[in-house]
Amino acid sequence: MVFIMNIVLLGPPGIGKGTQADALAAKLRIPKICTGDIMRDEARKRTPIGRKAKSYMDRGELVPDRIVLEIMEKRLKENDCRKGFILDGFPRTLVQAKGLEKTAGIDVVLNFVASQKEILERITGRLTCQYCGEIYHSEFARPKSHGVCDKCNGELYQREDQKEGVVRKRLEVYEKQTKPLIEYYRKKGVLANVNAKGRKEDVSKRVLKTLDALKK
Ligand code: AMP
Repeated sequence: MVFIMNIVLLGPPGIGKGTQADALAAKLRIPKICTGDIMRDEARKRTPIGRKAKSYMDRGELVPDRIVLEIMEKRLKENDCRKGFILDGFPRTLVQAKGLEKTAGIDVVLNFVASQKEILERITGRLTCQYCGEIYHSEFARPKSHGVCDKCNGELYQREDQKEGVVRKRLEVYEKQTKPLIEYYRKKGVLANVNAKGRKEDVSKRVLKTLDALKK
């Protein structure tokens, strides 16, 4: 029997949800849907949605629910989502969580937990490839050659919203608008906490262990 899973990854910005989402999507062969990536892509293409979203993103604020929900309702109806999906960075507000329920059911919400200090350290050292989007870290995951992507030779840069001032703002926004979702999903009985400390391989193992426990 194929085990279909609709999974939400929850946690503050910078905790490593994106990295875990990639690993899990490859392992379970289901799509990873990251609202941040979708909106950055729209911004790069300078679409009307992208232009609007960029102004919020650069300030570290949330893009209005209406815009995000419209994008996600369409995306979740696409064929590849029928086998299950991993949501990274969505929902981020109660309005979004309730909107999501109208489109799809959620089986498990993995809530990644780490200290604020560790999160700040991780996110402000992060470097992203201009071309392929590969992520590095100035201390923990250095590229072979300074400022250049190992995979495609693209130039690495620090995303505007990963600079310290904006990161602090994003963490504030998380506390106010997204953290209440922990209680919301706990009450629904679908929340599972995952310790996000340490190497990504170790966190991945914890994620798989948590999901395996749910299948039993
Ligand atoms: P991320 O890469 O997931 O941290 O997202 C980067 C930025 O995109 C956020 O700081 C928000 O401005 C915007 N964003 C991503 N996902 C959402 C969402 N679900 N709701 C509102 N804004 C979002």
